[in-house]
Amino acid sequence: MQYRSTRDFSVEVCAAQAIAQGICEDGGLFVPETIPTLSQADFSAMRNASYTERAEKILSLFLTDFSEAEIRSCVAQAYAAEKFPEGPAPLSVLQNGSGWIGVLELWHGPTCAFKDMALQLLPHLLTVSMQKIQADKTALILVATSGDTGKAALEGFRDVPHTKILVFYPQDGVSAMQKRQMVTQEGRNVSVCAIVGNFDDAQTGVKRLFTDPAVCAALDAHGYAFSSANSINLGRLLPQIVYYISAYCDLLADGRLQEGQAVNIVVPTGNFGNILAAYYAKRMGLPVHKLICASNQNDVLTEFLRTGVYDRNRPFYTTISPSMDILISSNLERLLSDLTGSDETVRAWMRSLQETGRYEVDARTREQLTALFWAGHCSDGETLAEIRRVYEAAHYLCDPHTAVAMQVYRQYAAETGDTQTPVLLASTASPYKFADHVLEAVSGAAPQGDAFEEAQTLSRLTETPVPPQIQALQQKAVRFTDVCTPSEMSQQVLRIISEAP
Ligand SMILES: *Cc1c(COP(=O)(O)O)cnc(C)c1O
Repeated sequence: MQYRSTRDFSVEVCAAQAIAQGICEDGGLFVPETIPTLSQADFSAMRNASYTERAEKILSLFLTDFSEAEIRSCVAQAYAAEKFPEGPAPLSVLQNGSGWIGVLELWHGPTCAFKDMALQLLPHLLTVSMQKIQADKTALILVATSGDTGKAALEGFRDVPHTKILVFYPQDGVSAMQKRQMVTQEGRNVSVCAIVGNFDDAQTGVKRLFTDPAVCAALDAHGYAFSSANSINLGRLLPQIVYYISAYCDLLADGRLQEGQAVNIVVPTGNFGNILAAYYAKRMGLPVHKLICASNQNDVLTEFLRTGVYDRNRPFYTTISPSMDILISSNLERLLSDLTGSDETVRAWMRSLQETGRYEVDARTREQLTALFWAGHCSDGETLAEIRRVYEAAHYLCDPHTAVAMQVYRQYAAETGDTQTPVLLASTASPYKFADHVLEAVSGAAPQGDAFEEAQTLSRLTETPVPPQIQALQQKAVRFTDVCTPSEMSQQVLRIISEAP
């Protein structure tokens, strides 16, 4: 299987190269030349398999330059029981009228957010990829984070051989709990630094470092190569396909679904990575009726999927579901590539996006989008009300991102009348990661005290346990206190590469 650039199909590389490189030199994203399919026999075989066996099967179809043993070893390390004590992706089935909603809980990993599902596996895929193409190098992973990604990447790369990771976060741009998660990070190969500025400053600074000739020369001289862990890396996309197929197999195994029965998949969406994985799963043969794309007040995707016009020229809102506060959903480019089958078309749309902040797809693509997707958005007020409604109706706590998905699903059911199709809904964070807003929603009062007190109060009120990963942070020592300006970021890199590997 070869991977090619969405913007130039003549650029072709193997999976290891695509993972090590992250993004194409022309700015495009790596996409598989064809999407492999699963037969009815494959589904039958996976039905009674474990999560890791299903992951091995699915990944082997994409990572044809990896051996079976390599894939097995990567998957075993990523989804080990110490990392996911309750299993990688358990389902909670909620009663919903006469039917049910399968809530796919993707937050039982080390950092309590769905990014663990991919970022626990990516480091192992990356080290195997590096061995295949640049055997002698240590990978230096640079991350700019607005909160969740930084911590998940730190945990994923922690003590992984032949890797070091440096995370930059905006000094005043992350929540108290997110900051605490990062500055207490353990591991021999990790570093964290605050940036004077906002997320964009951190992001721009990291992009500049990747191409700074002096920094790159120093890296090379010390035996390092830059790599990236952001959500456009193929190695983050592939692990996300697995859990949709695995959840479907679980529902087949317990008799809730019949073979071949279609489901609706609802995904709270930001950068379009998670819902794109659901689309790939559908293309591989998963029976999906509609992909339901849920956004918060930043509704650029809702408008796009309804009208075919992508327009980022609009206000940016800071919401209570911050991981979905985004105006450019990078992974959408992969969907457009698959729908149009044309590098030239995608290149033109992406150029238009860069130059004018806007593009409009053709009528045929728009028809395909309408057939595949349904999209909706909701406000912070509706999100809080939804957390409360779900708690009162089903005694189930959901975080604000998951609540956006629940709320938009209800809009879908009301508008289309489709209440019969079974629902698989991606739940992307533990409610305890956003305990302040969840507490406000279920208690009706503004929370008081620090983040740990809020978590305790929420736990007492709802009789649900605080995840041990969050509880433990209170006792952990702060390891990282560095703060730098964007122009000082290169010194942080040079310091790290001059330390012993
Ligand atoms: C990253 C994130 C999302 C958005 O996922 P995308 O793949 O970027 O669409 C949703 N919820 C949470 C909690 C996240 O961390």
